[in-house]
Amino acid sequence: LSQLFRPLDMLGWVYRTIRQGVIDMAAMFDLIDTDTEVRDAPDATDLKVAKGHVRFDNVHFGYDADREILKGIDLDVPAGSTLAVVGPSGAGKSTLARLIFRFYDVTGGRITIDGQDLRDVRQESLRAAIGIVPQDTVLFNDTIGYNIAYGRADASPDEVAAAARGAAIAGFIQSLPQGFDTRVGERGLKLSGGEKQRVAIARTLLKDPPILILDEATSALDSRTEADIQATLEAIERGRTTIVIAHRLSTVVHADRIVVLESGRVVESGTHGELLAAKGVYAEMWNRQAAEREEEDGDDALVTK
Ligand code: ATP
Repeated sequence: LSQLFRPLDMLGWVYRTIRQGVIDMAAMFDLIDTDTEVRDAPDATDLKVAKGHVRFDNVHFGYDADREILKGIDLDVPAGSTLAVVGPSGAGKSTLARLIFRFYDVTGGRITIDGQDLRDVRQESLRAAIGIVPQDTVLFNDTIGYNIAYGRADASPDEVAAAARGAAIAGFIQSLPQGFDTRVGERGLKLSGGEKQRVAIARTLLKDPPILILDEATSALDSRTEADIQATLEAIERGRTTIVIAHRLSTVVHADRIVVLESGRVVESGTHGELLAAKGVYAEMWNRQAAEREEEDGDDALVTK
């Protein structure tokens, strides 16, 4: 009888995996209500990532024909380097990330990875090459081990444990009565924002992609958790081409290059030092956020007194 049920189990597993993958991607990119019209070209080939050099050449894009969101973006992200994208709300930062994943096609210009136009490669191979640590990680009603491994169903328990260590969440998991078998999600243990983000980091470590997109959380984590997570993120960025969508400037200081996006255009570009010296938009944003930080620290000091 079990032989009869095994294929059914398998089907169930395939269904769960696909469905959850889709939910996760959709949630990451707020795509629940969006049709993804992008199709593989009939002669599409698999993306071959030699180094992970990402380029935007004069990219134009709009969700609707009558409203252009990206207005001629040029970006060059050399293999293994980190690019941070900053700018006001609505500037088009998340849109850039969605285009790298090819949830939409550009309306002008092109995006390439190691010289291959994203429109010429199979989407599956593209998405296999890119890891995402989203703002808010969706957890499934399953065990924490499953949640870490779900991107790589073939991962061994040792690999899952190593990823958890790399994401600095192993100690927390060990402290749970059922360890990796503890159920999480809506019907299980609730994780904090920082813990969820670590689960996403562990997933990414297991996937080991050459290209990484970090969509930094807008919701504030406490400053100690944020500092811990920042250190973990810097560790996983090493050796990968990384694009950070940043909301807090304090987390982009180490980036090889920072671009400031405003109304769909790159208005400044350089290292943290160069941009401060230029005394432009970035310097102004930095000074404003530094003043806010000081104010918060002042408040903390009052509270602890
Ligand atoms: P934030 O820092 O607030 O996350 P952002 O710089 O990431 O902002 P985007 O999310 O890229 O900005 O949005 C850029 C513009 O595109 C906004 O004006 C937004 O309203 C619009 N937009 C985003 N997603 C869609 C969509 N699915 N359909 C239509 N317009 C959209």
